[in-house]
Amino acid sequence: MSEAITMENFLRELPKCEHHCHLEGTLTTELLFKLAKKNHIELPDDYPKTPEELNEKYRKVYTDLDEFLKYYYTGMEVLITETDFYQLTWELFLKINTQDVQHIEIFFDPQGHLSRNIEFDVFMSGMSRACEKAFNELGISSKLIMCFLRDFSKEDAFRAIELSRPYFQNDLIHGIGLDSSSESEFPPYLFRECYKEIKKSFPKVGLTAHGGEELGPESIIDCIRYLKVTRIDHGINAYKNLDLLKKLSKDKIMLTICPISEFKVQDITDYRQLHLEKYLQYNVPFSINSDDPVYFDGYILENYVKIQESYNWDMATWCKIARNSINCSWISDERKNELLANVNKVYIKYESIASGSKERESVTVAFVKLMFFCLFLIFFFYKFILNQ
Ligand SMILES: [Zn+2]
Repeated sequence: MSEAITMENFLRELPKCEHHCHLEGTLTTELLFKLAKKNHIELPDDYPKTPEELNEKYRKVYTDLDEFLKYYYTGMEVLITETDFYQLTWELFLKINTQDVQHIEIFFDPQGHLSRNIEFDVFMSGMSRACEKAFNELGISSKLIMCFLRDFSKEDAFRAIELSRPYFQNDLIHGIGLDSSSESEFPPYLFRECYKEIKKSFPKVGLTAHGGEELGPESIIDCIRYLKVTRIDHGINAYKNLDLLKKLSKDKIMLTICPISEFKVQDITDYRQLHLEKYLQYNVPFSINSDDPVYFDGYILENYVKIQESYNWDMATWCKIARNSINCSWISDERKNELLANVNKVYIKYESIASGSKERESVTVAFVKLMFFCLFLIFFFYKFILNQ
């Protein structure tokens, strides 16, 4: 097996945790058109007419975040019934099961659905039903993270908090996030009371927020200061501030980086501009994620592969990233130990394949050398012995 094939297989089999995946961003174009038809949703006149045309659009780079969000919110319109949300979530699990994702923490946007008069219980029931089935049938554990939409008012966020209370109490929602729209227009401090209220009511809740993607390290510092988050989504500009790197490392604040998304929406033209080596150097935990896999044309494995093409890491480095992403997941120690053991199994398997192929390689080289030596002896024999 060649080194490249070994690495590709290794990355596929490496147990993965996904921490930055918006459920609404996993709506496949086939399901979108199917649900639009079923629910009698009229798509805009200038919208692509078939799944293929829409896929073609998604394959391109967006002009800016607003263009991406326009497609994202149009897609969301087709989700109406409990079954729609169930089907959306279940299709995501079936897909990530093919990429050895063993744990996923899924973002969802309640305000994006409540504002369309979809009741909280409709989307929660559909999502929770699929999560339970995925654990029972596929062995994939999951957590749901409710996000506040930046461009909605604080009052609207509080309405979502009130409606979400029973689901936090029943352990069906596990975290709070902050997403969508511009970081500069809607800075973290606007949401400090929302985060404080949730943390006061449910002390075990995980806190995260999108930050440091469009803006610099100060936006990350503000998320930590005002929202008390223990995780930062994107955070790709953290590398610019060494004191911040030291803090992220010391407090084990994980960055959930989404390479293909940065390429498609931000000004990243080369994955090395993500400066991932610096996070490794400073021991800042990070995970590699898909963000909105359908809209960015790449699930978690495709993101891993893009990073490998640019950074050419060895297996030990990938295992370190996998272990960090397990240790920073919002799961029990028991589940962490299970996943860590799975990483070790895959590492041992591929290390022995790699060393086996190196051994075979050195045997081949020795054989070729021997052949040349024999040819030389034959040549010598004919030339000097027989000619005498
Ligand atoms: Zn995101």
